[in-house]
Amino acid sequence: MENELEVSHILQTWYKTNKRMLPWRESSDPYIIWISEIILQQTRVVQGMDYFLRFTGRFPDVASLASAEEDEVLKYWQGLGYYSRARNLHAAAKEIMEKFGGVFPEKHKDILSLKGIGDYTAAAIVSFVWNKPYPVVDGNVFRVLARLFAMDVPIDTTQGKKQFTELAGIVMDPKQAGQHNQAIMEFGALQCVPQNPDCEVCPLKERCMAYASGTVQDLPVKQNKTKTRARYFHYLYIIYRGQTWLSRRGKKDIWEGLYEFPLIETEKPMDFAGLQETEAFRKLFTGAGRLNISSDMAEVKHVLSHQVLYTTFYRVEIEKIPEALNSYLAVPYEDIERYAVPRLIHIYLEKLNGNLSE
Ligand code: SF4
Repeated sequence: MENELEVSHILQTWYKTNKRMLPWRESSDPYIIWISEIILQQTRVVQGMDYFLRFTGRFPDVASLASAEEDEVLKYWQGLGYYSRARNLHAAAKEIMEKFGGVFPEKHKDILSLKGIGDYTAAAIVSFVWNKPYPVVDGNVFRVLARLFAMDVPIDTTQGKKQFTELAGIVMDPKQAGQHNQAIMEFGALQCVPQNPDCEVCPLKERCMAYASGTVQDLPVKQNKTKTRARYFHYLYIIYRGQTWLSRRGKKDIWEGLYEFPLIETEKPMDFAGLQETEAFRKLFTGAGRLNISSDMAEVKHVLSHQVLYTTFYRVEIEKIPEALNSYLAVPYEDIERYAVPRLIHIYLEKLNGNLSE
């Protein structure tokens, strides 16, 4: 126990000198803490700040939020996504007016009964505002605890959540619950970051079991039942006098740096008639003259770790080179194989070559 509290004291000392100055940290108003926590559940601090200031500027307290029209609440939320959270905030503000006489409830169980408030938000509010000993467990806390105690139980399982919540309670200094909770969350956000934390400067280095065993990058563990995302790719193999066009894929998506044919991605499955109607298609082929189109490989399913690609390849012969192709790389057929392409395109090219040699 003594040892665990030492961890809390180190975290709190670190927090005093390293914490970011954020407007909601200056407040002991449960309403303000509540709004900030809901906004921060879905966005990073930097982006969330503007939303927080705008939202609390227009709805500075429970009464103003409760009496607003839902449309206006959603307008102030626009861009943050997860609109059900805004609706829940609005509904909970009304509940506070009706059931608690407009005063934000202080009891943990009453707060938990409000619409859209779960364990994490309730613990944050009661500990930050009233210093009640409820541990917060968010993604940052999972990571810090998993590494400090080299816990490899998956954090996205019922058992994992239970064990981590228990551990978070043991590590927390009950007399300084609010400060401890803020400290461990901030420590996860700034020091014990997901990728390549600078362990050499970490005040918990000597006590960190993951650091000692060289498993920092392996923790926390996730069971990873992440939903896969379906994407619809339409590749255009454009042909004109022995050459075609490629472009290089950019950052922050699959296949960074690989080459591909001009691509139109659609939100939904789309046949060629629909594709022709898209703005992207029109832009690409304005000035190309008559198009001679055939589909070589339709709806090929390609499974990646968190994505399933449904891809159709179209061969498009053009009469003239449209201006839009100036931003692509013109490549003679025989040179295509010099470019690194995703496996999916490689299969298509093989098929094309097979057809040509038949
Ligand atoms: S030593 Fe590294 S992994 Fe361990 S708590 Fe510190 S920053 Fe996190």
